[in-house]
Amino acid sequence: RARAHLQVEADLHSALEHSEFELHFQPQVDAHTHDVVGCEALLRWNHPERGLVYPGDFIEHAEDNGLITRIGDWVIRAALAEARRLPNHVKVSVNISPLQIHSSNLMTTIVNAIAANKIDPRRLELEITETVLTSDTNFTLKRLHKLKEIGVGIALDDFGTGYSSLNYLKTLPVDILKIDRSFVDECASSPEDSKICATIIGLAETLGFTTIAEGVENQAQFDFLHTNGCDEYQGYFFHRPSDADYIEGLLNKCTEGKLEKNVGG
Ligand code: C2E
Ligand code: MG
Ligand code: MG
Repeated sequence: RARAHLQVEADLHSALEHSEFELHFQPQVDAHTHDVVGCEALLRWNHPERGLVYPGDFIEHAEDNGLITRIGDWVIRAALAEARRLPNHVKVSVNISPLQIHSSNLMTTIVNAIAANKIDPRRLELEITETVLTSDTNFTLKRLHKLKEIGVGIALDDFGTGYSSLNYLKTLPVDILKIDRSFVDECASSPEDSKICATIIGLAETLGFTTIAEGVENQAQFDFLHTNGCDEYQGYFFHRPSDADYIEGLLNKCTEGKLEKNVGG
């Protein structure tokens, strides 16, 4: 096992050196207009032997060996370079690992990437999970507030899983709650999941947050969430994550960023 770990670490170093990482983007659409309002950047690894590798197979390793901060910096720079090529009203969301929040480079990387690409900081949204608050809470909160001060948005990813504590909603400077796919999956058929989704949407509305449902795959899920007031949607029902060229072509083709359901499958 130790040898396998070392091999993955060496492979990840090599991936950074040989530019094997790539970002795919998945559109996020507005409930009423179906306009694309944002895109989530999702990391992919073009491994020379294994082919396309998904984050579930390597992010945890990168967190264990500390490489996540270097990889995360690359993701921020690449996502903002892409934001420059997308229509101005489209935001870009970037997943931030809890370890990255503590990285000394984080603020500089973000500020420099915003400046280098001359984009409005409000177009950047960081997706964090509640686990960011499991260590050094004061430092994390200060850092998140600082990011919010410069205009960057904060989304709470996978909301409702993990260490969900309502206290986090009071202390974290959050703008958006992302309803986890595990609740969305059966929101139209399971009485429990439908109540959980409706409650999250109601809670977010009361607290003044935007809600986005992730993993929306069919009309029944969309109809249920829409009826209950969910603001934004992301999922295969609208679009799968695709490479930057495809997303750019799609967004520039759709007048004013409007996206028809199931375009391109
Ligand atoms: P996440 O941030 O919750 O991202 C959503 C995941 O759901 C993505 O998986 C996406 O491809 C998938 N998805 C979207 N719509 C649907 C749908 O309708 N049905 C189904 N079944 N799945 C859908 P992906 O790309 O494999 O990413 C998995 C996780 O890896 C992400 O979950 C995120 O936690 C992490 N991740 C991805 N990119 C990065 C990154 O750049 N940095 C860090 N630290 N983590 C990342
Ligand atoms: Mg995410
Ligand atoms: Mg998520």
